[in-house]
Amino acid sequence: MNIVILTGAGVSAESGLQTFRGADGLWEGHRVEDVATPDAFGRNPELVQRFYNERRARLLDGTVHPNPAHLALARLEREYPGQVLLITQNIDDLHDRAGSKNLLHLHGELLKCRCVVCAHTGEVRTDLTARSICPECDSTGTLRPDIVWFGEMPYHLDEISAALQRADLFVSIGTSGSVYPAAGFVAMAARNQASTLELNLEATSREFRDRRMGPASEVVPLWVAEVLGK
Ligand code: NAD
Repeated sequence: MNIVILTGAGVSAESGLQTFRGADGLWEGHRVEDVATPDAFGRNPELVQRFYNERRARLLDGTVHPNPAHLALARLEREYPGQVLLITQNIDDLHDRAGSKNLLHLHGELLKCRCVVCAHTGEVRTDLTARSICPECDSTGTLRPDIVWFGEMPYHLDEISAALQRADLFVSIGTSGSVYPAAGFVAMAARNQASTLELNLEATSREFRDRRMGPASEVVPLWVAEVLGK
């Protein structure tokens, strides 16, 4: 059986990373339009860099670790005899740290940067500023977070579309289903006769055939144990 899993900010909430839309509709106190669009970066690069510098520093401050949901998904990939593809909308690296290998970062990664002049991409673990220098083309102030902002094309869409066509089971974990194209993956999988399952604190859509409600750190390990027959 082919399993395709999509995760969102909810899978990392219990690791101490805030989800996208808090109760106030803001991401860490900011309107999305002010920090997560190419226009925002053009208007106020310092604010956008500072926002992601803070997120990156938080991710690396030594207190944020994969939780039992991340670990269970890595275990599923290791022990399941069929195919498991993990697609994450998260820009954190907690699935990587947990050991997931067949992993696609749909919206880019906080620990990567990209040069807007030469398109060089590389790792980044410190702040990006107007003084950062691209190691490839030596330009100053041209490095941005390698993150897919609203209005930009998500990564790996061809590979994901092919995987959804082959999927027997599509599982959505901790995502509100409010950001496209990811929100449309369940319908694509269902069109190809896949079973669909949502794991979340609350139901987000009627499109899923099955759902288990509860915190990811509890429902994901239980579901994985069930799939592995243990
Ligand atoms: P979202 O904030 O819109 O939705 C979060 C979902 O998680 C909600 O449906 C909520 O009910 C659920 N949830 C919250 N706590 C949970 C828990 N403990 N267990 C299970 N479910 C829980 O997030 P989204 O749908 O992923 O929005 C996508 C955008 O947010 C992406 O573009 C992503 O890059 C960005 N984002 C990423 C991070 C991260 O990398 N950790 C954090 C915030 C935002």
